[in-house]
Amino acid sequence: MVIIIGAGLSGLLTAYRLKQQGIAFKILEARDRVGGRIHTVLGKNETPVEMGATWFGNHHQHVIALLEELGIGYFEQYMKGTVFFQPMSTSPAQSIQVPSQPPSYRISGGTSHLINTLYNRLDAEDVVLNQEVQKISFHTNSVEVVAADTFTASKVILAIPPKIWSIRIAFEPQLPMDLLHTAQLTHTWMEDSIKVAITYAQPFWEQEQHSGTLFSNTGPLTEFYDQCNYERSKYALCGFMSTSFKQLDDTERRNRVINQLQSVFGAKAADYVDYKECIWSRENLTYTDSETPLFPHQNNGAPIFRDSFFEDRLLICGAETASEFPGYMDGAVSSANRVASKIVKAKS
Ligand SMILES: Cc1cc2nc3c(=O)[nH]c(=O)nc-3n(C[C@H](O)[C@H](O)[C@H](O)COP(=O)(O)OP(=O)(O)OC[C@H]3O[C@@H](n4cnc5c(N)ncnc54)[C@H](O)[C@@H]3O)c2cc1C
Repeated sequence: MVIIIGAGLSGLLTAYRLKQQGIAFKILEARDRVGGRIHTVLGKNETPVEMGATWFGNHHQHVIALLEELGIGYFEQYMKGTVFFQPMSTSPAQSIQVPSQPPSYRISGGTSHLINTLYNRLDAEDVVLNQEVQKISFHTNSVEVVAADTFTASKVILAIPPKIWSIRIAFEPQLPMDLLHTAQLTHTWMEDSIKVAITYAQPFWEQEQHSGTLFSNTGPLTEFYDQCNYERSKYALCGFMSTSFKQLDDTERRNRVINQLQSVFGAKAADYVDYKECIWSRENLTYTDSETPLFPHQNNGAPIFRDSFFEDRLLICGAETASEFPGYMDGAVSSANRVASKIVKAKS
């Protein structure tokens, strides 16, 4: 049996590929939910908003191929109308012309629709939640994986960010030093971002010919976009907040966001139905401190992640291990395809 550690996009897809080939597996997931850095939440009036991954483009061919394979629809990010820019706090937001750009897409039903589709194609008993793996021991003919329970496998696949496994999981014997060192210095994409989503009863920005897009140098919000559902029957704005605002208490942070939106979009922005945010640096299954500051995407796609170790008993996938678009959903998908096909080939 193969044990896959982590039920994010890469872990779930690896499992699905193994299931398609009749190879037995179990996924061990530390959280009480699947999806990892993909997390669509429903606001008070059932509006799906993204706390994690949201957009992809035509260049993300692995994601597009997977959505087509699974029969999941996707649609263009709404960008019709005015785009606002706040250059500094002392002057009002300006309406700007953004140069024409290739479209970015969102998944119909929310990004978690992809996660739930994969999960539903697995057997529920093969995905074990609340199992934070702490130790992995490699023996001559087997691997022992210690989480809340202990599991025995023939192979283990790490489907969690390299920085997390290299710092949090004890390996016996120890991992090769070059692998360990590279992993400890591998940036986890978006690990310290803050996502904010605000649900409204009406898309007042659309009614006033604004796209809902805001770019700001002043904050707290730095980038904000329309996040209505595909049918445009549920209305929301969603985007990123500057990480410096995590020091504020929740009420103060929310007040600053609403004040900023009111100053850009007018009084209607204050009349919201629901406010949701996720401070990812407080999610300890995604974020962990680094010994030295890492630059975005540092060591992402390092070739060593695509080797296998302990006589092919240890394989590594996850977005940060991909050679193309590492850190992104596309990297998660291609890394899962790569690792699963390696296991399938070894079996045949
Ligand atoms: C705020 C934010 C916005 C993003 N926006 C985009 C975007 O617009 N487009 C895009 O392409 N990508 C985006 N990304 C990146 C995208 O989410 C990731 O590339 C992708 O989801 C990674 O999937 P993964 O399976 O490699 O890892 P993860 O999703 O991190 O999954 C790893 C899983 O392992 C689990 N785990 C951790 N430690 C253990 C342990 N010890 N034992 C067991 N389980 C463990 C975690 O709980 C998690 O479920 C964004 C990410 C964030 C956080």
